[in-house]
Amino acid sequence: MNKLPMVDLKKQYQKLQPEIDAEVLSTIASTQFIGGEKVQTFQTNLEKYLGVKYVIPCANGTDALQIALMALDLEEGAEIIVPAFTYVATAEVIALLKLKPVMVDVDPFTFNVTAGIIQEAITPDTKAIVPVHLFGQTADMESIMELAKQNGIYVIEDNAQAIGSNYIHKDGATKKSGTIGHIGTTSFFPSKNLGCYGDGGAIFTNDDSLAKKLKMIANHGQSRTYYHDVIGCNSRLDAIQAAVLNIKLKYLDEYGDARNAVANAYDKAFKNIQELQIPVRANNSTHVFHQYVIRVKDKRDELMQYLLDNGIACNIYYPVPLYKQKAFSSFYDGDDLIVTEQLCNEVLALPIHTEMDESSLNYIINTVIEFFH
Ligand SMILES: *Cc1c(COP(=O)(O)O)cnc(C)c1O
Repeated sequence: MNKLPMVDLKKQYQKLQPEIDAEVLSTIASTQFIGGEKVQTFQTNLEKYLGVKYVIPCANGTDALQIALMALDLEEGAEIIVPAFTYVATAEVIALLKLKPVMVDVDPFTFNVTAGIIQEAITPDTKAIVPVHLFGQTADMESIMELAKQNGIYVIEDNAQAIGSNYIHKDGATKKSGTIGHIGTTSFFPSKNLGCYGDGGAIFTNDDSLAKKLKMIANHGQSRTYYHDVIGCNSRLDAIQAAVLNIKLKYLDEYGDARNAVANAYDKAFKNIQELQIPVRANNSTHVFHQYVIRVKDKRDELMQYLLDNGIACNIYYPVPLYKQKAFSSFYDGDDLIVTEQLCNEVLALPIHTEMDESSLNYIINTVIEFFH
């Protein structure tokens, strides 16, 4: 077992325990397990926090993406542009709905897709783009929205890793990630920045008619009880999860600060190590450091083993480009994507979470430094 974990949900819970236990127990006592006041309150609180007109809670982040795509009423085979360097869920739902995932490369510095990369992949069949705000910072949404508008295509932001980050427009105006595209989605998986104690997710939009459709699809295509207008699914955030999220949402910005403090300490300690590239901060987004991901040429696997041997958890997000996954190989026949390939060989995520103490942090830093000596 690793002494130092990637995330420490136990310590986080212990700090919130009186508050969380009371809320969860009162939810159970109410027997309002599905829907009801807790879910409604969380929805309203999250709408306020994000500054978005509609939040539609659902069962998980993958469902959120699926429901978002279903709401666009696309024809079979419509092309959806996604990064090849992301979690499988982003592309999986596209294939599941018989749409065509078009996998593109990412920027070597931010690890996110850019308008320039997307532009080259647009064809007359392109109907949507799904930028992923990877590891905690927002993709260049202003340029992506401009490109989408020129081409009449939808943008769905996969915001599972960046909830709470601010996108900064050229004129200085800021917006929360996930609220800029036509639809945004997120996940409340326990280890995400805003995590519940089970599965959970949500969809965001400022568009009245999309909101109506999204709500309907998440609830069996129902316009009113027992009247079903479209084919939908059963995707709900349960009340106990909403109760937990209501409490944790209050701490989300504080949690972001705690993660940034760890990232700043890592940056400072590692910036002069030649063989290691620290994460690059985009100048048009704040970072919420869902992951702190370094790049190491050649020696990545060796470093990983060294850290594990010394009781430090670390992980590779992601080891294989999507198009090289068995399930997705039939969706791609182009050349290897250079940056994605490099990243899969070089990235390593170090522990980063809200409960990191000074001595653990110093131990991790010193162990990394020692490896390169
Ligand atoms: C976690 C994650 C998802 C899926 O969320 P689940 O709640 O696990 O279904 C989707 N996309 C990205 C980028 C993720 O990190």
